[in-house]
Amino acid sequence: MNTSVLNSICIDHIKKNIEESISNIKKKNSTLNAFVRVYEDDVQKQFEAIRKKIDNGQPTGKLCGMIVGLKDLICYKDHPVQAASKILDGFVSTFSATAVERILGEDALIIGHQNCDEFGMGSSNEHSIYGPVRNGLDINKVPGGSSGGSAVAVQQDMCHVSLGTDTGGSIRQPAAFCGVIGFKPSYGIISRHGMIAYASSFDTMGIIGKNIENVRSVFEVISGPDEFDCTAYNEKFVDCKHIDKQKFKIAYLKNAVNYEGLQKEIYDALLNVFDTLRSNDNEVLGITLDFLQYCLPVYYTLTTAEASSNLARYDGVRYGYKPKEYKNIDELMCKARTEGFGLEVKKRILLGNYVLESGYYEKAKKLRYYIIKKMNDVFDEYDFLLLPTTPTTAFGFNHNMDSSQMCYADIFTTLASIAQLPAISIPWEQDGKNMPIGIQIITKKYNESMLLNFADYLLKTYNSS
Ligand code: GLN
Repeated sequence: MNTSVLNSICIDHIKKNIEESISNIKKKNSTLNAFVRVYEDDVQKQFEAIRKKIDNGQPTGKLCGMIVGLKDLICYKDHPVQAASKILDGFVSTFSATAVERILGEDALIIGHQNCDEFGMGSSNEHSIYGPVRNGLDINKVPGGSSGGSAVAVQQDMCHVSLGTDTGGSIRQPAAFCGVIGFKPSYGIISRHGMIAYASSFDTMGIIGKNIENVRSVFEVISGPDEFDCTAYNEKFVDCKHIDKQKFKIAYLKNAVNYEGLQKEIYDALLNVFDTLRSNDNEVLGITLDFLQYCLPVYYTLTTAEASSNLARYDGVRYGYKPKEYKNIDELMCKARTEGFGLEVKKRILLGNYVLESGYYEKAKKLRYYIIKKMNDVFDEYDFLLLPTTPTTAFGFNHNMDSSQMCYADIFTTLASIAQLPAISIPWEQDGKNMPIGIQIITKKYNESMLLNFADYLLKTYNSS
């Protein structure tokens, strides 16, 4: 086939993808509420630029034509971003996140911003100024949170991949609830520049997709050092697409498997994963981590403390929501914060101030170091740790508005966040009501390449059985 025919096939293919994704958004978004802003005109302009490159015989980028959605916590120059909060009403980004710059540089198409829990605080996507997101597999169920819109957008083919954020599970938990792949890499391997902060020592950008190839290629592009983020890891992710080691030594978390709140079908799915791995000659052994019960308290103590500090900048003075009337600067700040933040965010700011005052913050920090050390010990011996992503499949709306109960949705995801380790949730079977189950795999720091390969291997084994 000659080059011009190939070029027109390529252009037609990208065009068809754009049409499909826009048509899915138009058909489904009014019910599901996954996208809060759609950038159809920008995508058309980006498409024309790609077409020009192809027509002129110039090389195209590694993500050419890939349609990407952004969680409403990720800055995109000259576009509004609001963290699903009233406090950022009217705010327009003056710069793009490093990850956004990098995907645009490789010819990805940014289709819009996606709904989420306010400032990433929540597990059901019910805490959003834009209203809740619905799970496309059952609209009476939540999509998970906080990256609920990002997971539903991928689930419903509104985009190929979403860039989300994961502080304690916000990519993995909604991915599990929606039946897609949710990947949170090691802390620092993707720059946080341009990501609205919740808890800076936990916040990690990650990727939601339907297949490992897409997740991997986006990760290759967005990972790596960044002069704008001094916590960014200094090395670039290098992929080795083949699995150089054929048999793995895998641990599973006994206290997660035997957790009393674990849904029976998730328990069964885990046993099925173990059987699959064992029948492929891998070693699968149970271990107990005595600190699992401390993960939620450590996570909520440290993240609320960090959030109380990070969110202090929203005061109504320089940007975002400003009350119409106020007598002086104190009243302006007080009204802006009282009226601008939602209930869940206010609770966490208060809790954060309390833990900082009370000395719990220091105690939780010590426990974090203990957990990091213990996890390093695990990975001295094992390649991967397997556990459920969530204790239950997607639940209904207003299921449990008491946030102290809601946080149990994060019981298995906070572990990798506390220890800053890479983790992925992959879909594995469904419950009796056809809602997806997520299996989580954690590995040692900066072992992303192996993790993605292993997840791919597991998914392929599952699909071929
Ligand atoms: N659900 C967790 C929380 O509410 C995790 C949030 C996140 O990872 N951003 O804090």
